[in-house]
Amino acid sequence: MGKPKVGVYGLTGCAGDQLVILNCEEELLDIAGALDIKSFPMAMSGGDENCPLDIVFVDGTVVQPKDEEMLKNLRERAKLLIAIGTCAVWGGVAAMSNETPREELKNKVYGPAGQVFDTVVPQPLSSFVKVDLAISGCPIEKEQLLQAVASLLHGDLPRLPNYSVCTECKMSEYPCLLVEKGQLCLGPITVAGCKARCPSYGRPCIGCRGPVEEANVSSEVRLLREKGFTWVDIQNRLRTFAAPADCFEDKILKEGANA
Ligand code: SF4
Ligand code: SF4
Repeated sequence: MGKPKVGVYGLTGCAGDQLVILNCEEELLDIAGALDIKSFPMAMSGGDENCPLDIVFVDGTVVQPKDEEMLKNLRERAKLLIAIGTCAVWGGVAAMSNETPREELKNKVYGPAGQVFDTVVPQPLSSFVKVDLAISGCPIEKEQLLQAVASLLHGDLPRLPNYSVCTECKMSEYPCLLVEKGQLCLGPITVAGCKARCPSYGRPCIGCRGPVEEANVSSEVRLLREKGFTWVDIQNRLRTFAAPADCFEDKILKEGANA
């Protein structure tokens, strides 16, 4: 079997997840040797923008009509579409402001000049196309990327953690910032993979990897309310990285907030 034909693309976002690929300094030559990289606009010029692809990695959020057009074109070209980064998987910070109508938002930020921007309500990739694998993180963890590449080369999809940051935190025996210090930590409902990086530095998890499967959001909200946090504090933090997540629906949040 020949090398898989691969494309790496970014929609609206900071491109940090593409940068993680380029930052694989020790492994970069192996990656480049194992994959037939057809296009990676951030890293190379003269890519083939029309050829069929075996795998396409996409970061960023759909924020502009041209993002949706590009994403649908990539989906048609690729056998496997991999969403990389919390923006691609959950909408990220771009989707944080979805509750405010776009016209109002443009006006608030840019004044009348903002009307020239053609934007849509920010949404993750899965709102528009089938996503075969989602690797979240802001940015993604290099180890998970390498694990994904290794699995894909063997014709598999990687098994990513389906447990919470709290699990990693407890395994490392860090003191609990929520229970012991009353800090607004989202570790109980955030998907693991970062080895509880923030609690390891004495900082609460702000949920940058997005919600874990079956996150018990109402319990987290109830606990935080008991610790004295306001409903607005909690809601703002929950919505920072994954506002469109189903588990953050108002009815679930309010259930916890009113408890
Ligand atoms: S500090 Fe945060 S991540 Fe660690 S155990 Fe406590 S709630 Fe969980
Ligand atoms: S601890 Fe939370 S905020 Fe920090 S890197 Fe991990 S998921 Fe992101």
